[in-house]
Amino acid sequence: MKEKILIVEDEKDIVKMLEYNLKKEGFRTVSASDGEDALDLANRENPDLILLDLMLPGIDGLEACKELKKEQKTASIPIIMLTAKTQEADKIVGLELGADDYVTKPFSPRELIARIKAVIRRGKEKEKLPEILKIADLTIDFSKIQVGVKEKLVELTAKEFELLKTLIKARGRVLSRDYLLDTIWGFDHAIEIQTRTVDVHIRSLRKKLKVCAKYIVTVKNYGYRFEAEE
Ligand code: CA
Repeated sequence: MKEKILIVEDEKDIVKMLEYNLKKEGFRTVSASDGEDALDLANRENPDLILLDLMLPGIDGLEACKELKKEQKTASIPIIMLTAKTQEADKIVGLELGADDYVTKPFSPRELIARIKAVIRRGKEKEKLPEILKIADLTIDFSKIQVGVKEKLVELTAKEFELLKTLIKARGRVLSRDYLLDTIWGFDHAIEIQTRTVDVHIRSLRKKLKVCAKYIVTVKNYGYRFEAEE
């Protein structure tokens, strides 16, 4: 497969270990030891995935992640964060920074490589979001803006459709209420539109999706995730 992985890590031993294991698996690698270098290389090398350490000198992993996701050129590159603590990691992937996954240190190369392959595969599937997507009992026609449950058409409002589409595009990833609010209602949404609005729309969307409602998973005190076996 020869996909290119950008390794961003300041600990030389970990870099060496990663380079060795990734090359053995047939990946190409480039490495950066700080956040500035990471941004520079991400732009120039256009990697297929970035392994981004959280604790870096200068621009730390979180800042770098934010920057990468802000720039159009690098926004679609999947990012796996390397962190020391699970609690930190939950926040990172939870926050709307756009990290696709995380691995906590110390990790086994085998586990990391499995995650890398999964994230790259997911990215490719998402890229080619087809005109009509069928997930078990749910059919979404993106060109006609139509949704069917068990072959029966359901009437969704524009906002409900956007909500469903946004969740599906990020399949498997948790999206916060704030993120959904900003994405679907816009940054300058009226003050009276609160994050609760998202819950209200999710509720009515679920009601309409009937048996498929279970694909929209609530992440307590945080947001929602689309999860369906295909
Ligand atoms: Ca580090």
